[in-house]
Amino acid sequence: MYILLFGLTIVTLAIIHLYGKNGKININGNTEVQNLIKEMCNEYCIETPIIEEGDNFSYNPIKNAIAIKKEFRNSLEHIVASLHEVGHYIFYNNGTILAQLTSKTLPIIILNRVVILPAYIIVLVASAFNFVEVNSSMYIVLFKYVFFAFFILASVIRLTIGIYNEIIADHYVLGFLKKASILVEIKSVKLLMTLAIISQVLLALTWISAIMLIYELLFI
Ligand SMILES: [Zn+2]
Repeated sequence: MYILLFGLTIVTLAIIHLYGKNGKININGNTEVQNLIKEMCNEYCIETPIIEEGDNFSYNPIKNAIAIKKEFRNSLEHIVASLHEVGHYIFYNNGTILAQLTSKTLPIIILNRVVILPAYIIVLVASAFNFVEVNSSMYIVLFKYVFFAFFILASVIRLTIGIYNEIIADHYVLGFLKKASILVEIKSVKLLMTLAIISQVLLALTWISAIMLIYELLFI
């Protein structure tokens, strides 16, 4: 099941890439995208964020900065991805209750990704080689109950608040693009956004089914 979900995630990401690559926009290089980001921030009356170069497109709520991929191409995919991160930035800084709730749940999401998920994989591998005894009380308390409850909580947040955040970021982008100085086909942008959200849901479901499987192998 998790292999199927993972496969679907990869396929969706590949479609986004192929589709977005072809939609060329008359914009080149980093400076233009930075101007576009400024224009979008002006539209929503918010200061332009710190813009960094990164390995991928991302928004860092701790630094309140956005990262633009180093190898920036003038493709629809990259433009939409950059503006999507600006959408996250605008949402995080708009002070609504939902934005506050999102930032409060952020540590749970990070802890889940950095500690819980890798811990399950490590314990599965370690127990397969008999390095750990999962029937001991420490492992039962931690991995059967505490971590698992935490993982369920993080997954629920990911699929509700997390996905809502993606939708709202896209909403800001669409609102801007309808009035922006660059000409884009809104229909193509919407298609890319839909595929991106589907890929995120699929990725979350992939992790859920993988952890369920590990849990089953360890304890059932
Ligand atoms: Zn996003």
